Amino acid sequence: MRSLILTRILPPNGSYRAAHGVEGCGASSREAAWSGVSETTQRTVTARWVVPLTSLRDSLRTKRFAALRCVRGSVTALGWQDTYKDQVKATALRKSIPICTFLVLLLPACSLFSPEPVSSSFETMGTGATLTLAGKESSKLSGAADKTKQLMQDLNAELSVYRADSAVSRLNAVAGVRPLEVPEHTRRLFELSKVYGELTSGAFDVTIGPVVDLWRPVKGQTPSLPTDDALTEALARVDFRQIQLMDGAAFLARRGMRVDLGGIGKGYAVDLAWRECRNLAVRNFMFDLGGNVRVSGESESGLAWSIAIRNPFDRSATLARIEMPDDWAVATSGQYERFIEIEGRRYGHIVDPRTGYPAAGLAGVTILAPNATMADALSTGLFVLGPKRSIPIVKKTGAEAVFIPDKQPAELWVTPGIRSKLTVLIPAKVQVLPGW
Ligand code: AMP
Ligand code: MG
Repeated sequence: MRSLILTRILPPNGSYRAAHGVEGCGASSREAAWSGVSETTQRTVTARWVVPLTSLRDSLRTKRFAALRCVRGSVTALGWQDTYKDQVKATALRKSIPICTFLVLLLPACSLFSPEPVSSSFETMGTGATLTLAGKESSKLSGAADKTKQLMQDLNAELSVYRADSAVSRLNAVAGVRPLEVPEHTRRLFELSKVYGELTSGAFDVTIGPVVDLWRPVKGQTPSLPTDDALTEALARVDFRQIQLMDGAAFLARRGMRVDLGGIGKGYAVDLAWRECRNLAVRNFMFDLGGNVRVSGESESGLAWSIAIRNPFDRSATLARIEMPDDWAVATSGQYERFIEIEGRRYGHIVDPRTGYPAAGLAGVTILAPNATMADALSTGLFVLGPKRSIPIVKKTGAEAVFIPDKQPAELWVTPGIRSKLTVLIPAKVQVLPGW
């Protein structure tokens, strides 16, 4: 086997260069200088790269095999293919500085051979959407972005409870009075919402609208806790089984019922966008709508797309990264996104339909699922149910989950299938979901 000599790693210098284009990385970085000798050519080559530490950690924990593929690409160019391949293979599972250096050196090198992903962002459905395409498909970006944007706008016009003329608002207005024709997507979403309602024994309930409204801040008013009477009255109007579906129409069987698709609509929208991109012959992309993400194919040079989970205890920081299975989706629910502060206490926007109170006990739930509608509905529903009662549902659906209890220091309770795909970026205990 040919040999390779690693010389040194320099101390952090504060500068920064993204090693692989998909992810934004933190500010901390390290300059690595490396030098190697090829036995074949007897040439000494030195190289110097500045990489973010987050990428370094990613490389060590999750990107080993992807890195190997990159390695081959870049190493071929230097004429050292076997050396890299053998040595990385031999020691990849050990955390060693030399191997760090290998990967630090080689990941940036691979970006020389694979064009960076390109992305287009727009506002829709009250949040931000980003379509990212692998660089090799960059020419399809603007066409696909225009199409998905239009789709999202049309869907929002059907579903939004903030628009009086949307199909959902018009149906809410005649609850308990008469059925109303509803467009196809709205009808389909009602069907799916009922499925997830049953699956979660009512923890996920899209008729939660009247209760959610009690926890919304009202402009110009000091927030106060809803009274028990108000909660009891609102809860009497909550029951997803009272959504009756008939040919092309829907009927909300109780007066005062209000459907709120906030817990599932974005996921459904992501699936629509995903299908549209595939229909447009885009194969390698990621679509993100307010944290509801679905991926397709690979990012560059065979790397799986990876997504970040924000730290629920420090929203400016990333808690972990997850390498996404092909075609899968991910969604996260947490009370930190939207909440109301009453007498110094925070109350979140995800409500437990059993009590009428915001669900408590967890800081966040992340669900990976084969489609984004499922990921979205389950992340909301399982946030309410809590880890223990969620286990049978996770097993039944084949989804993967990360539960973050609402206590510090942070802990991650995960399904066994997600462990190898997870890179935790802060000091946190990771364990298999208790009771699994
Ligand atoms: P997500 O961010 O996907 O977890 O959705 C949260 C939104 O879902 C809230 O802002 C409400 O509009 C709605 N929601 C709140 N509680 C529930 C619940 N128990 N079941 C279904 N939807 C809910
Ligand atoms: Mg949801």
